[in-house]
Amino acid sequence: MDAFTYQKGELYAENVPVAKLAEQYGTPLFVYSRTYIRDHFRALARAMAEVDTLICYAVKVNSNAAVIATLAAEGAGADVVSSGELLRARRAGVPADKITFAGVGKTEDEIETALRENILLFTVESEQELERISACAARLGATGRVAIRVNPDVDPKTHKYISTGKKENKFGVDILRALQIYERAAALPGLEIAGLHMHIGSQILSAQPYAEAAAKVAEVCVELKKRYPTFRMLDIGGGIGIRYRPDQEPLLPPALAEAVLPILKPLKLKILMEPGRFIVGNAGVLVVRVQYVKNGPSKQFVIVDGAMNDLIRPPLYQAHHEIGAVRETPETVFGDVVGPVCESGDFFALDRHLPAVRQDDLLVVHSAGAYAYSMASNYNSRPRAAEVMVCGARHELVRERESFEDLVRGERIPIW
Ligand SMILES: *Cc1c(COP(=O)(O)O)cnc(C)c1O
Repeated sequence: MDAFTYQKGELYAENVPVAKLAEQYGTPLFVYSRTYIRDHFRALARAMAEVDTLICYAVKVNSNAAVIATLAAEGAGADVVSSGELLRARRAGVPADKITFAGVGKTEDEIETALRENILLFTVESEQELERISACAARLGATGRVAIRVNPDVDPKTHKYISTGKKENKFGVDILRALQIYERAAALPGLEIAGLHMHIGSQILSAQPYAEAAAKVAEVCVELKKRYPTFRMLDIGGGIGIRYRPDQEPLLPPALAEAVLPILKPLKLKILMEPGRFIVGNAGVLVVRVQYVKNGPSKQFVIVDGAMNDLIRPPLYQAHHEIGAVRETPETVFGDVVGPVCESGDFFALDRHLPAVRQDDLLVVHSAGAYAYSMASNYNSRPRAAEVMVCGARHELVRERESFEDLVRGERIPIW
């Protein structure tokens, strides 16, 4: 489904006019479609139905409680990268036995929190981390279920900042050393060898790197299954790419499933997946209001009330986001959509043919459901935006806009 469509020249979020949401909740405003999130989760689950699959939504991608709760109600688990995310997932209704904990830098505190919650799995990125989980588990009298994250050294053909499965990336352990590291794990107290993990990158638009990586790790899994009776899970990570540009072909679940199922099925393991962007990326837009239109010598600058602190993907990853008018207009202008922040990197679009808008008109930045609010900051002392969820004709505030009080909370001026 497409969550954002025009009806009689007006942009709707499901069945709600976006202009009405902007009026009621103010701008900048993130708007999410609950139906889109649910349908994308279901489409992936359906495509993978031939194997026992647990889809652990990657919470870092959009950590709003309403988003997590929507997925939890569908039976999703959660992939978390901090205790903050772990507690968010639990609070939004994800059972601990569906939670995986990823990341190269887990602290002792985080490991202990996760052990106390008795989460399903730690995806482990180094030998030192194995030792730390073991020590924490021994201290607590708990068991840490572990999956070593192996780096299969495949090129996911994505932006270099979001490629994670090549040997020069910091993530995982060399696949050639994997068996040796599992042996180390087997010798440590408090650990259970539960599975193997990979995550080769993000915004991957072809099934081929998945198939290539899955084939590489499958061989290792066969050996691990022979050696360790508790070995039962293969986590193939996230990374499914979505359409940011109209001419882009997204990777769809049936194509992914067709490429990986022939490799995964014979393993007879529980398959874990950690999608994020695929589920929420195009479920959201950022609604902004035009403050000024300024004509430069070679182009127009459309200055809006949203900024890089709300959505940093364009300057951070040279990411493309489509820009749309909330009220359709046939006229276009050439120029940039920029925010008020004091940085030349504060832009949503550069050198584009844009809808011709005037002061006080509304624009939307598309594909703002993933890595948008969750990467937002208070730079320039800008309060973070509000978030709204739409479901059919219903809409509800799912996070309040920050206030000035929120901005200065916890700040102190020393008496000297
Ligand atoms: C970020 C991340 C994901 C989610 O990636 P998407 O590209 O958004 O699907 C999944 N697993 C791990 C380990 C991650 O770091």
